[in-house]
This record gives sequence, structure tokens and C-alpha cells, in this order.
Amino acid sequence: MIRIPKFIYQKMVAHAKKEWPLECCGILSGRDGTVEKAYELPNEEGSSVRYSMSPREQLRVFEEMEKESIDMIAIYHSHPHTLPFPSETDVKLAFYPEVASIIISLKEEQNPVVKAFRIGKEAICLEEIEVIP
Ligand SMILES: [Zn+2]
Repeated sequence: MIRIPKFIYQKMVAHAKKEWPLECCGILSGRDGTVEKAYELPNEEGSSVRYSMSPREQLRVFEEMEKESIDMIAIYHSHPHTLPFPSETDVKLAFYPEVASIIISLKEEQNPVVKAFRIGKEAICLEEIEVIP
């Protein structure tokens, strides 16, 4: 279970809409499964079907998290045209099995769908998201 404050949830969806028709990506950090902070990262691929987070920006975020001793809870990205389910590439590039993958689908423009997954070597599991005030 991942708990996400409403304003961060909305910020994430807004980020996806802002980058549409390209994929957006970012990192959520916090403590004990509760998100406290969202970092928007540039998608170096500039693509509508894949993403890669800028290594330099990623390092900056890692350093900031370490300084504040908060953990990486999830990596999020958007699917501008497809369902919120990990693509083959997403599975291949899931380097952090302990970190959830959140996908924001903008397939239906008026109805963004956000889902979280744990992508392991053997299986992909759906993880529940609770939006908290
Ligand atoms: Zn994807």
C-alpha cells in the first residue's frame, strides 16, 4: 500500500498532462510507504512510448533524499496513449524491485488512471494506492 497526499497525486497527473503526448517521469519519496515529496525529472528519451530519467537529475534527487533521510517509494511515468500496465520495456528497465512503479495512463483524456505495481523477476503485482488528505 502506498499512501499519496492528494496534492502530490494531482501534481503527478498534472505533470503527465503537461508532457503529453510524451511520457513524463519522476520519483516519489517519503517514509513508511507514505509519500512526502515528488520530483519531476526530464525524460531523456523525449518519447511517447518510453522514458529514461536523466542520470544527473536522478543523482541530485538521490543526494537530496539521503540528506533528508527519506526513502525512494516509487518511480512514476505516464502512458500517454496506452493502458496503465507495465510495458515490456518497463519490465526490462525495472532496476529497483523494492520500489513501486506508478503508471499514469492518459489513454482516456478526461479520465486519467493511476496504478502502482511491483515489478519482480517472476511476477508483476498490483499495489494499492490510497490518496490521503
Ligand atoms: Zn511504461
